[in-house]
Amino acid sequence: MPQTLPAVLVIAGLDPSGGAGIQADIQTLSALQCHCTPVISINTVQDSRKLHQAHPVAPEILEQQLLTLEADFDFSAVKLGALGSAENAKVVAQSLLRITANNPSIAVILDPVLKASHGGLLGDESLQQTLLDEVIPYCTLITPNEPELKTLTGEPSPPHAAIKLAELGPSVLVTGGHNRNMADNTLENTLTIGAHQPGRAQRWLITLVDGEFRGTGCTFSSAIAGYMAQGFSITHAIEKAQHFISHTLESAYILKSGQRIPLRI
Ligand code: PLP
Repeated sequence: MPQTLPAVLVIAGLDPSGGAGIQADIQTLSALQCHCTPVISINTVQDSRKLHQAHPVAPEILEQQLLTLEADFDFSAVKLGALGSAENAKVVAQSLLRITANNPSIAVILDPVLKASHGGLLGDESLQQTLLDEVIPYCTLITPNEPELKTLTGEPSPPHAAIKLAELGPSVLVTGGHNRNMADNTLENTLTIGAHQPGRAQRWLITLVDGEFRGTGCTFSSAIAGYMAQGFSITHAIEKAQHFISHTLESAYILKSGQRIPLRI
């Protein structure tokens, strides 16, 4: 009998420079021996330095792709990145409604990407509102960095903002990449457990190699999705994903220009 691999549905944006977005997700999940079904929610014109344009895909195409895949696969996890528009987020919410009705314990991980690595918007306020109202209630875990946390909740205090999001259902892992201690390269990832979930709050102080990297948020959240697809608990998956990201940064590579790219393969 041929082996089987856990299938992970990824809905995310295309960064044609290859450093972030859905390419980072595909590489990470492949490295973790998961099968990624990649659905593109937003197309971008982007190089290693700058986001030039962003074009959400038509919601009708997204919907057809999701319906077709749902009919064909039993997913072990879902990973959501930049969804592009409120219309697309609504289509994704409908898909999550169907997927979670069939499989209530499936892990749904959202990296609420609102900006590209170098700045440049990948979503507007109506997308943010739709994430809060329609998508986040289906999520098992969301992985905002501090700027995303503040934008989504309007709440300046990170612990209060995390509790506000956790009250909507999911656990909230606030990633510390934007708050790195430059003296010793440490950062803190903080987990707040969701209103409807078992587990306890936790904090990890991790040390990463020095440098500016691209696509770290995508890589980290995909690694968590991959490990949860393999059956690890949220906290165990986070710990394993932290090890994975450390390795990818230690062996990161450079191209002609731009930030370093984690070696995910
Ligand atoms: N998705 C797309 C399409 C992007 O272009 C980017 C960054 O440029 C991201 C997601 C987020 O990348 P990061 O992992 O650096 O937060």
